[in-house]
Amino acid sequence: MERVNPQFIDTIKKLGAFDINACYSCGTCTAICPLSTGENSFPRKMIRYSLLGLEEKILGSPEPWLCYYCGECTETCPREADPGGLMMALRRFATMKYDVTGLSPLIYLSKSFKFIATLFLAALTLVLIYFLHGPIVTSEVKLATFAPVHITEIGDIVILIGLGTLLLINVYRMYRHIVLRGGKVKAKIPLKVYIAEFIKILPLNFFTQIKFKFCERKKYWITHLIIVYGYGMAFILVVLLLKWFQTDEFYPFMHPIRIAGYLSTVALLYGIVVMARGRLKKERDPVWKHSHSTDWMFLILLFLTTLTGLFVDVFKYLHLPMATYITYSIHLAVVTPLLVLEVPFAKWSHLAYRPFAIYFARLKEYTEKVESSEELREAA
Ligand code: SF4
Ligand code: SF4
Repeated sequence: MERVNPQFIDTIKKLGAFDINACYSCGTCTAICPLSTGENSFPRKMIRYSLLGLEEKILGSPEPWLCYYCGECTETCPREADPGGLMMALRRFATMKYDVTGLSPLIYLSKSFKFIATLFLAALTLVLIYFLHGPIVTSEVKLATFAPVHITEIGDIVILIGLGTLLLINVYRMYRHIVLRGGKVKAKIPLKVYIAEFIKILPLNFFTQIKFKFCERKKYWITHLIIVYGYGMAFILVVLLLKWFQTDEFYPFMHPIRIAGYLSTVALLYGIVVMARGRLKKERDPVWKHSHSTDWMFLILLFLTTLTGLFVDVFKYLHLPMATYITYSIHLAVVTPLLVLEVPFAKWSHLAYRPFAIYFARLKEYTEKVESSEELREAA
């Protein structure tokens, strides 16, 4: 027997599914969706589950993550029930449920918690900088002297291991819901199937988000990819190439490290401007119709991170020591909440959840096929 949660619809309304009660189940959205398939049919099925409060069924479905929020269903819905917005709200709901710490629901459902947590992490970072910074040279810019690389590296490692571990635990909880179906799965998946599907699905979907290309609005695919690559390049610079990136040296303009930094900045600023413009103007595209407070939190933190990073470079190459050190401290104070709050608990986590959901959907299909052929054999 499936458990019904009568409060479910209220929760997902708080997460952005404002209009879903208007649905009269005509199925136009599923027919129009370019990503809906026989095995994974959505969004109508998810709408029915949501209206009935079948929370476990939703958590056991990969479908919310197979939607790339192109908005085509919302645009064609005769009842203006915003099915695309519901799929987005279900992803937020799933993110809350996968999170083992209980912080994700607070981030999604409480504006004051988000605000206080952001301020707390920023203040904590500034306090750490105050106590741990190196000598302040004012005659010239010595960034790596002010912020010694070995200390920043320790911060990088702590954040990477801590957030990576949390994210992996959450991915495992997603696996339990979707593939193991809360312990109800009977078929065993051979190791070679796990490995073969992993190799086939994860890198392709993580690095190219290839399914997005089936959507009508390909511009979102490109914008999404530009942001991901901008983010990826910034990650490589501040984690793998930190010694060369956070340095006392002054590189010529065409130095590869500077070029990589500028490309990353341009990519991120482009993505931020597209998203902020759409959300502010609520452009005709339905994906911008409703913005959740976490969408704005992500955009604002990403914008401040990119802008302060750019100003560190400008002040350094204008030979302004104090302006460089202060801006760099502010930059770190913004980066910390962006990473700590967004990577395992909120919007950023979808970068990991979506490719894993596609992988888990394949594993789930495998178990269902094995189970149905066993049932047929038993019946015969
Ligand atoms: S969301 Fe709209 S298109 Fe989809 S089933 Fe409901 S009424 Fe029909
Ligand atoms: S938003 Fe696009 S991908 Fe998502 S359910 Fe609607 S049509 Fe399908």
